[in-house]
This record gives sequence, C-alpha cells and structure tokens, in this order.
Amino acid sequence: MYDVIVIGGGPAGYVAAIRSSQLGLSTACVEEFVDDSGNAVFGGTCLNVGCIPSKALLDSSHRFYEAAGHLDTHGIKIEKVKLDLNVMMDRKDSIVKKLTGGIGGLFAANKVTPITGRGKVIAGNNVEITKSDGTTETIAAKNIIIATGSSPIEIASAEFNNNVVDSTGALEFTEVPKTLGVIGAGVIGLELGSVWARLGSKVTVIEAMDDFLFMADKEIAKDCLKDFKKQGLDIKLGSRLIASKNLKKSVKISYENSTGTEEMEFDKLVVAVGRRPNVQNVFSEDSGVHLDERGFISVDDHCQTSASNVWAIGDVVRGPMLAHKGSEEGVMVAERIAGKHAEMNYDLVPSVIYTHPEIAWVGKNEEELKSENRSYKVGKFPFAASGRALAVDQSTGFVKVISDASTDTILGVHVFGPSAAEIVQQALISMEFGASSEDLGLTIFSHPTVSEALHEAALAVNNQAIHIGNKRK
Ligand code: FAD
Ligand code: NAD
Repeated sequence: MYDVIVIGGGPAGYVAAIRSSQLGLSTACVEEFVDDSGNAVFGGTCLNVGCIPSKALLDSSHRFYEAAGHLDTHGIKIEKVKLDLNVMMDRKDSIVKKLTGGIGGLFAANKVTPITGRGKVIAGNNVEITKSDGTTETIAAKNIIIATGSSPIEIASAEFNNNVVDSTGALEFTEVPKTLGVIGAGVIGLELGSVWARLGSKVTVIEAMDDFLFMADKEIAKDCLKDFKKQGLDIKLGSRLIASKNLKKSVKISYENSTGTEEMEFDKLVVAVGRRPNVQNVFSEDSGVHLDERGFISVDDHCQTSASNVWAIGDVVRGPMLAHKGSEEGVMVAERIAGKHAEMNYDLVPSVIYTHPEIAWVGKNEEELKSENRSYKVGKFPFAASGRALAVDQSTGFVKVISDASTDTILGVHVFGPSAAEIVQQALISMEFGASSEDLGLTIFSHPTVSEALHEAALAVNNQAIHIGNKRK
C-alpha cells in the first residue's frame, strides 16, 4: 500500500507526487499519456501541449516578426528573411521532450514510482489502473490525489476535423495558413493567434462577448485591443459562431453579431472557447467523490473531496486553469497529508497572457473593487516615460497599482507592457507580505530597468511619482 497515489502527471500531479515523497510518504504517480514505446509521458497539458510549446512558438515567431522588417528603427535592415517552419517546430518539440523527460529524472531522484495506465478512484481508498492492453490492477493507498486536468471544449458548431482544430492542432500546423480563423479571444486565442499572425497568416478572431478580455482591468483591456488590432489581429467582438462547414481545403463559418449573420472562409480554424475538467470515468459512483454544480470535482478550500483521504487539484477543480495554481495546490495537499497546515492564498494567483507586449495582473481590478463598494487609490505610470522601455523599443502600455484608500495596502497590480509577467511577480511578492504602495515607493529599483515603472506607479498612488507631471494641490 502506498501512502499517496496521484492520478495524473501534469504540473498539479507531478509536483504533488514529488512533494509527497520529499515529506517521507511512499508515493506513486499514474499517467495514461504514453510515447511510441508505450511509456508514460509526464508533464500533462502544460509541458506537452500547453504552456511550454506555446511559449516556444511565441518566442520564435516574435523573432521572425522582428527580423522580417520590424527592426528598421534600430537601423537594422534584413533583406531576405526566410521561415523554416520545420526547424521552428523541431525546436519546440525538443524543448518539450527535454522537459517531459526531465520529470522521469526528478521522479527517480525523489523515489516517486511512475505507473503507466489510466487511474480510477474506487471505493475503499483503492485505485484501479487500466493498462493499454485492457488489463486492470487495483492498488490501495492511504491517500489519493486526483489531478486529471482538463481538455479543450468542442462545440457543435465547429466539430474538429482536418481544418478545424483545438489548441493542440494549432501548435502543429505544417505550413502557415494564409488565412486563420480563431473562435474565442481568450488567452489561447490571443497567444496562438499572435503566433500565426507573426508568421504571416491573416488572422480573424471571433469573440462572443462584447467586452474584450472581460476578466482584465478595463483600461488595460482597451489599450491591448488597440495594440493587437495594430499588430494585424482582426478581432470581432459580440460575434458568436453559429455554424461551420468543412470545404476540404478550407472551412466556411457563419457567425451572428448585432447586425445579423456574416460568413467568412479560412484555410484553418482554431477553436479556443475554454477547457473542461477531465472527470469522466475518474471515480466510481460509490467512491464518495462528487462533482460541483459546474462539473468540476467538488473540493473544500484545502482541495479535500467529499471522500475521506481523497483530494483533487489543478484544472479538475474550481479556480483558474493555470499551471502554477495547480502546482501550489499539489504542494498544499502533500503537506496537509503529511500533517502540516499548509494554506493556499487564492487571492494572489497571478494571470499572464504572453502576447507582445505581455498582459499580467494580480489581485483586484477597479471594476471588482467598485462592485465591492471598496474605496481605493490608483497610481499609473506609462512605459513611454521609462528610459529602459524606450531604449529597448518597447514603450507601449502602462503599470497600474491600486491600493486601499485608507490603509494604502496594495490590492491589485495590472500591467500591459514589456516584462509584464516579471513586474507583476515582483508586486505579488510584496503583496504576500502585506505591502503598501508607500513600501514599494520606498524600495530601491535598479536603473535602468522596466521595473522602475512599477516603482513610479506605486509612487503615483500617493502623487509622488518623479518622472510624470504630478498635479500639485
Ligand atoms: P494537466 O496538465 O491537464 O495534466 C493532467 C494529466 O493527467 C495529463 O497528463 C493526462 O494525460 C493525465 N490523466 C488524465 N486522466 C487520467 C487518468 N484517469 N489516469 C491517468 N492519467 C490521467 N497555464 C499557465 O499557467 N501558463 C501558461 O502559459 C499556459 N499556457 C497554456 C497554453 C495552452 C495552449 C494550453 C492548452 C494551456 C495553457 N495553460 C497555461 C494551462 C495549463 O496547461 C493547465 O492549467 C495545467 O496544465 C493544468 O495542470 P493539471 O496538472 O491540473 O492538468
Ligand atoms: P478562455 O476562457 O480564456 O477564452 C475563451 C473565449 O471564448 C472567451 O472569451 C469566450 O467568451 C469565447 N467564446 C466561447 N464560446 C464562443 C463562441 N461560440 N463564439 C465565439 N466566442 C466564444 O479559454 P481558452 O482561451 O480556451 O483557454 C483555456 C484555459 O487555458 C484558460 O482558462 C486559461 O487559463 C488557460 N490558459 C492559460 C494561459 C496562460 O496562462 N498564459 C495560456 C493558454 C491557456
């Protein structure tokens, strides 16, 4: 009997397994995704078809975009730029292979037992493992952690085929589509839409909501929309896909907006309308595990399910579908199983959209604070006034710091601009320690860095920014 069996080896599951083992618990991790030789490949969506391959392509495509005529202001002229998509894809694949292979090494070093097969929680704290040949074996565990992740949502109006693909398909095109339709202007739509637009596709994004990036700060979203349009993304808001037809070499879609029904034809269509939790056949009816009203595995604040000693973490439970959220839940659960009192601070889970420039935020935005009737102060600083941002030719966007009107405690930080993810991370660390905007203002930032924009925005909260004209009272 194991102390812990983790079902699913994505960033939630493999981290939970490693931490459990580090804490002296005998641990196995069950994974059903296999390579050509039938061996389990760990890393889940994130390493195989998510965070890592998408960031590899975002970086490569950005370099191509710059080389192909966007370095003129630096006095760099490149006459003929040629794209070798095979090499670009090979680079992405080799990064994925290196990282997924690395988890095998981490498991060996930490004494986690890898098990290949499909895991299912059955009554009595047992896990039934189904092997690829259909045979089953039952293993008992004192604790079970479900970390089966999520899959792309398929919609009836755009069933997947050779021309209509999900995010995984959009990471594997063998040639650059001349025209690309993207359904959903969410995180995946913007990131993968950007990749193919930079490589030469004419990209149209169809978004059902009237508001662009409804989950982001409104002012930031407005700036981003303007910038993405400038970059060539044709984003059609308030437009809901109603049907699509595969024409063998292209796909025709119809969508509805406030003026009626419109049609468009694309070489390829990416459907990125969200992901659903992998809950099917993951637990038996008598296991004691239940779903919540949205179809996720029902858990409490500590990721405990309704069955004793059965836990669930990552995309398969409530909260944002983010790798770092799942990993931290994995650590928390491993520690609680080991008798510690770990907690997860769900108020400070950062969000990043890896476009160029990046969009990142943590904590509350103005709209949320207004709806809570909370009084707040705002400080903003534009990258156009940052020496380093100008020097690196990335002066679009701004930093916004929001703090409590009476205590000055930082409540939210929102960034659109260079290194937004890293800047928000710095702010987040200070927020974990309960910092005020004055604390950040009193902190020394290296010069010249784009992070100085965070310093100045924090100073601006109390009308003390140095490099913008503060209105004197
Ligand atoms: P998953 O990563 O989905 O892993 C679940 C694992 O469980 C899989 O390996 C699956 O094969 C296995 N499994 C499922 N059922 C069973 C079973 N019954 N038995 C055995 N094994 C099973 N998030 C970020 O934070 N940053 C990003 O930049 C980012 N970029 C993304 C880009 C794309 C294109 C996509 C699609 C997602 C991205 N995400 C990103 C989201 C991120 O990938 C997920 O939030 C994260 O992978 C969830 O981790 P998880 O461990 O819960 O699930
Ligand atoms: P999403 O929820 O971010 O966006 C989906 C979008 O599709 C929404 O804006 C929605 O209004 C729109 N939509 C839904 N149905 C539609 C229809 N019929 N017609 C037109 N538009 C429609 O989902 P996603 O982009 O698929 O991403 C899935 C998850 O993966 C997200 O939860 C995200 O957290 C995660 N992810 C994170 C990152 C990152 O952290 N950088 C990157 C990629 C994915």
